[in-house]
Amino acid sequence: MRLRNISGSRELIAASDYVIHEPQEHRGRWREVFGNDNPIRIEIGMGKGRFIMELAGTHPDINYVGIEKYSSVLLRGIQKLEAEPLTNLYFIRMEAEEITSVFGPGEVDRIYLNFSDPWPKDRHAKRRLPSREFLQRYDEILKSDGVLEFKTDNRELFRFALEELEPAGWRLEQMTEDLHRDAEMMRDNVMTEYEERFSSMGNPIYKYIIAR
Ligand code: SAH
Repeated sequence: MRLRNISGSRELIAASDYVIHEPQEHRGRWREVFGNDNPIRIEIGMGKGRFIMELAGTHPDINYVGIEKYSSVLLRGIQKLEAEPLTNLYFIRMEAEEITSVFGPGEVDRIYLNFSDPWPKDRHAKRRLPSREFLQRYDEILKSDGVLEFKTDNRELFRFALEELEPAGWRLEQMTEDLHRDAEMMRDNVMTEYEERFSSMGNPIYKYIIAR
């Protein structure tokens, strides 16, 4: 017996109004996408989008863009957004390396990285989202007083991320090596899917907030 052919994630994504399909066309003009001047905050590597959807739901006066490279993962986010629509959130399916062709200088108010892929091999260090190469890209799109927030349960990735700050010209504003026991940094914490999973296994969660 042959199974019915179910449309692929790419086709479903192409048909979604919650996805910005030609994001480069909005570079420097994202306020037109949202129809207001509210600040724009982005999550790079949003996975199924729980974190950014919760933020968008609780902060209607801030605009959000969730970025994810894999269609199959992004599709889960789209399905959730269709069930509970939000007017201040859009998704983009793209590779983060292209970020400066999608946002103009200073167009982004805040960047979130949550549980980014560790790329443990040295020769893949440039692919790590908190690497100096990526910090250089974020420097271009983030407004001068904007911050970047990064959470992970991966000690090696966090240590690497800390070492990248100075050479890239960034400075540490706040950090913890056990977020869930840090009352101050936990105050407005929004859990991500990975955070829920890894913290329930007993892993400490590392977090920093950085600026230039
Ligand atoms: N932020 C979510 C998911 C973490 S898993 C959470 O905390 O629950 C990391 C996610 O980032 C994966 O979905 C992966 O596909 C995506 N990702 C990794 N590298 C990326 C890149 N270079 N560009 C875009 N997305 C990326």
